[in-house]
Amino acid sequence: MNHSYRKYLNTVPKQKLSFLPTPLHKLERLSEQTGVNIYMKRDDMTGVSQFGGNKIRKLEYLLGDAVAKGCDTVFTYGATQSNHAMQTVTACRRLGLTPILYLVAIVEPDEQDIRSNLLLDQILGAEIHVIKIRDGETEEEAEERSFAEAKEHMARLEAQGHRCYDIPMGGANGIGSAGFIEGYVELTEQLEALGIHADYLFHATGTGGTLAGLAAGHNLVHSDTRIISVNVSFKEQKHLKKVEAMANAALAYIGAESAAYPVEAERDLHYDLNYYLPGYEIPSEGASEAIRLLARTEGILVDPVYTGKAFAGMLDHIRTGKVPQGSTVVFWHTGGATALFAEKEILGDICRKTE
Ligand SMILES: *Cc1c(COP(=O)(O)O)cnc(C)c1O
Repeated sequence: MNHSYRKYLNTVPKQKLSFLPTPLHKLERLSEQTGVNIYMKRDDMTGVSQFGGNKIRKLEYLLGDAVAKGCDTVFTYGATQSNHAMQTVTACRRLGLTPILYLVAIVEPDEQDIRSNLLLDQILGAEIHVIKIRDGETEEEAEERSFAEAKEHMARLEAQGHRCYDIPMGGANGIGSAGFIEGYVELTEQLEALGIHADYLFHATGTGGTLAGLAAGHNLVHSDTRIISVNVSFKEQKHLKKVEAMANAALAYIGAESAAYPVEAERDLHYDLNYYLPGYEIPSEGASEAIRLLARTEGILVDPVYTGKAFAGMLDHIRTGKVPQGSTVVFWHTGGATALFAEKEILGDICRKTE
């Protein structure tokens, strides 16, 4: 089955990086236990490498634009254990582009024991600049410093004749979000093929780029599924206005503004801030419990930073009846399981033997 909505997606440059469609399948045992039909959309399996994730969908469009503009070098940003940075590096390698990372050490890496995504970035041979947070400096200030340093670096390379492409943190802009319009169309095709209707869609939200694309796709296909976005870090409600703008920019980018109804924050975007504490990259008991439950019921792994917190949120919505018994729910697995091999501070109590 192939939706006519796909015609919009073919109007903009794109580089094929992924193994799409990613699987959609039912969690049989967990559905039975909870009384809710739970399906999982497996964007942990997007490729490029075996450590895929949601950023690959965005990168197909972002790097499509980079290649169309004749760029040879790609800059991006994030935490030292950023999934987005790691996926950008793998995607650049696939396309023969040079990846340069500016990473803020929210958790300081141990030079003698480099782990998880930072290890993969090194194996993949990315040029890595680690920005340590200075005494008295906030995370945001260190981020600003990383952007400023990269800007100077880019200017030097451009003066030498290179062409640089600058990808914001998380690949969060209208171009990247086009990848999740495609994701939503893909999900719609899969649900139709299975003959089922999703009442709810749960996913982890950080920069909001994934949500922007999902909401845009939702409004393009005129879906009535309620998207619930579980935050992994603090966000003010006004952040939803940025996501709204990104969603409408994505629709405009693919020329679909008149086919979709515009994304409106109050109606279409739903943050749930109840599950991110104690904070970004800091484990929570709820996430640890969700990681163990899913692993021990279904043999599927979610992570402590993103998908574990979102899964904990979904389970809580089910337990408390906010998601009624008998509903059908899709959990969008956005990847990130490499964090299971990250620094101990990030991990939490995920190995407890019994509940
Ligand atoms: C980046 C990321 C998210 C959040 O996606 P945004 O587009 O930044 O909101 C969710 N899950 C995982 C595993 C991620 O790496």
